[in-house]
Amino acid sequence: MPEFDLIERIRQRAGARDDVVLGIGDDAAVLCVPAGRQLVVAMDTLNAGVHFPHDTAAADIGWKALAVNLSDLAAMGAEPAWCTLSLSLAQADDAWVDGFLDGFLTVAHAHRVSLVGGDTTRGPLSISVTVHGFVDPGRALRRDAALAGDDVWVSGTLGDAAAALRQWHGGGVRDAFLRGRLDRPTPRVALGQALASVAHACIDISDGLLADLAHVCRGSGVGAQVSVDELPLAPALRAAFDGDARRTLQAAGGDDYELCFTAAPDLRGEVERAGLDAATPVTRIGRIVEGEGVQTATADGQAWHAEHAGYQHFA
Ligand code: ADP
Ligand code: MG
Repeated sequence: MPEFDLIERIRQRAGARDDVVLGIGDDAAVLCVPAGRQLVVAMDTLNAGVHFPHDTAAADIGWKALAVNLSDLAAMGAEPAWCTLSLSLAQADDAWVDGFLDGFLTVAHAHRVSLVGGDTTRGPLSISVTVHGFVDPGRALRRDAALAGDDVWVSGTLGDAAAALRQWHGGGVRDAFLRGRLDRPTPRVALGQALASVAHACIDISDGLLADLAHVCRGSGVGAQVSVDELPLAPALRAAFDGDARRTLQAAGGDDYELCFTAAPDLRGEVERAGLDAATPVTRIGRIVEGEGVQTATADGQAWHAEHAGYQHFA
């Protein structure tokens, strides 16, 4: 399929919000930013064999390409609006592009995001997406805003995606729930917005809880204490791994796309209400302290160290 036909295929399926003055088809898109709001922009790239296993279905790649970007907007507390898509494809394969769009546009529709432009080139399979969203002025959830005394919270469950990757490498039992968490992460968009007036600092977990919480600590000039046995655990992960292997997947595995955030202890009720409103479980896992670095301990109070420090790309 020639490049033009491929872009036309994308254009026909993209749809548009009414704040899109000009979408796919011109040299650039023209968009209406709501008066009095701040524009929030993020970009993430997925490379074959690095960010997803080679056997990943096109629809799952499409899903994940947008979901990981929306996760960045969620971590800022932003309301998503638009995205652009840069596709590098080895060949213009219409079945692959249709499958990719099935996943990508499912996520786009679920979050009322319009695809307003992009670029299409020939090369090794690689997908870059930018997302654009809005926050009220000064309300973005930043990494540098944690305060000593805050609680540390996470959404959802941790370690599922990393466990799927471990199973994929191991070649033994491969659990479908865990693989779904790797291929189709859930961007916590509603929770991020609900937390915008409640949380202090927020980050989404892409490289592993401990690595990403360390970014918050460095940015905020504080330390953190985390109870590794209180990390939220999915039944499928409980069944598949235990002991330090499981703890390491949860604390350092990566690809979770859950939110890790801090909030004042007197706002526990508000945090729980935000979780309920967003239909997203939230779990308190530790606290922010004066000092630096992230310390982890088991339920019996023993210091604990992960088997490795953070997510390592597998290819
Ligand atoms: P130009 O050469 O002016 O950059 P292109 O041929 O690259 O134009 O793109 C034509 C139009 O199609 C532009 O509006 C561009 O944003 C859009 N477009 C190209 N590739 C994609 C894509 N993968 N997804 C969405 N829109 C795309
Ligand atoms: Mg171009």
